[in-house]
Amino acid sequence: MPIYEYRCPTERTVFSSRRSMAEMDAPIACPSCGAPSQRVLSIVAPVGRGEREPVAAGAPAANGGCCGGACGCGAR
Ligand SMILES: [Zn+2]
Repeated sequence: MPIYEYRCPTERTVFSSRRSMAEMDAPIACPSCGAPSQRVLSIVAPVGRGEREPVAAGAPAANGGCCGGACGCGAR
């Protein structure tokens, strides 16, 4: 069962609770004071993609012959 985070509106504390996905958006009582708490979305850091993809050294280029013609090896 997944764990969701909830925020107590009176104490401004965040607690986590295991709930089913069907209940994840329903208010849950704060374990400390019992106030109905809403679910908070976990902050996920954006993942940068495409800048530095791991490429095996020496792997042949997938496009355009051996080197694209820069080395004069005969590739057209
Ligand atoms: Zn509370």
